[in-house]
Amino acid sequence: MSNMVEPLPGTGDIWAPDVEEWVRLENAARACFSKYGYDELRTPVFERTDVFVRGIGDQTEVVQKEMYTFEDRGGRSLTLRPEGTAGVMRAIANAGLAPGEEKRVFYGGPMFRGERPAAGRRRQFHQLGVEAVGTCNPRVDAECIAMLMDYLKTAGIENAKLMLNSRGQAEDRVAVNDAMRDYFKPHADAMCEDCQRRLTTNVWRILDCKNPACQNIVAGAPPIVDLLGEESRSFFEETCRCLDVLGIPYERDPRLVRGLDYYAHTVFEVVGEGLGAQNALAGGGRYRIELPGVKKPVEGVGFALGMERLLMALKAQGREPAPRGVDVFVVAQTEEALLPAMVLAQELRDTELRVLAAQEKRSMKAQMRAANKLGAKTVLILGERELAEGTVMVKDMACSEQSTVPRDEVVAQVKVHSTPNATR
Ligand code: AMP
Repeated sequence: MSNMVEPLPGTGDIWAPDVEEWVRLENAARACFSKYGYDELRTPVFERTDVFVRGIGDQTEVVQKEMYTFEDRGGRSLTLRPEGTAGVMRAIANAGLAPGEEKRVFYGGPMFRGERPAAGRRRQFHQLGVEAVGTCNPRVDAECIAMLMDYLKTAGIENAKLMLNSRGQAEDRVAVNDAMRDYFKPHADAMCEDCQRRLTTNVWRILDCKNPACQNIVAGAPPIVDLLGEESRSFFEETCRCLDVLGIPYERDPRLVRGLDYYAHTVFEVVGEGLGAQNALAGGGRYRIELPGVKKPVEGVGFALGMERLLMALKAQGREPAPRGVDVFVVAQTEEALLPAMVLAQELRDTELRVLAAQEKRSMKAQMRAANKLGAKTVLILGERELAEGTVMVKDMACSEQSTVPRDEVVAQVKVHSTPNATR
């Protein structure tokens, strides 16, 4: 019976205080991305399957093996979004992008991939992502990366490592494909079955293979940047120069390609500490995406970062979210005090304090234990005497001092002495 209430593998319930940490991270992202002129865009969680197949590339792992695709009642093929960029591009194409017009948007929310669940790898996970669309300029790429590093710093991430590479552009593809095939062909027997197939279907995907035998072979592959034409090489060098000028450290990773096929020019990944095998906190790059019904591919640069991994990395650094508890607990010593306790709690909530009141008559000891467990800084006690006298007993839990305060002054007094237990 128990597995009837467990969430499905690779999914999970997110409880407080983790939820509060999520909210903090989302709000920090809103504030940070806004400084760079990005506006929030919310797109649907599901789209026509074609949006992803055409946008991400039909030879990618995500499209071939991981999409949650289903037919709706009208026989249309729909897919739960496995990533954010393709949907954002669809939305932008639908809204229209005038020649020379730029759009900067950010998004957040759940993504779905049918991967094998592991630590840091889920089937429903959550991303924050950004897209700067409408320009093809290395300065935009560098600024986008700078914003990601800025955000990670505000989020509290230490020691994040930025890896950088270029995939060149369409014009470079034939030369790179040929050089890669020439390199990999003699190693074909030692490579996994998927990579043997990739030799003919999409040789770039070999660079991204997680199989250790293939990774050993990939380590000796020619650096992509060396195979690119002059224009792509100078685009990459200019991106690096901008990062140097901005003082953003990075490492060149000559074989980084990223898992989706829409990338052109810059690709980057940020790896974090304490994440184990799934150590990529964020990844992104410049892309050209073809959309159904749209003649010209949409160009832009963006990144997505995984919320679950961000949280894991922060916890690994010792930043464990603490339960919030309450600011004030109202104890009712008698049956008759229960309703007045409820009214008092309600009045206190107008002052933004977090307040709970006893709702059943229990012993004083049990109620004080409950208040302690909730971390209440102030306990208000209403008993027979207080009700008769029109007073409230106020107990400061830090110093255990008690005082009797007139009922009509208690809200103002508690307000002055308590700072709300705000969301961290
Ligand atoms: P991608 O869209 O694959 O480039 O991933 C961008 C970021 O999303 C990664 O760096 C991870 O932080 C996160 N991510 C991707 N896939 C998963 C997953 N299955 N589970 C959890 N986080 C993920």
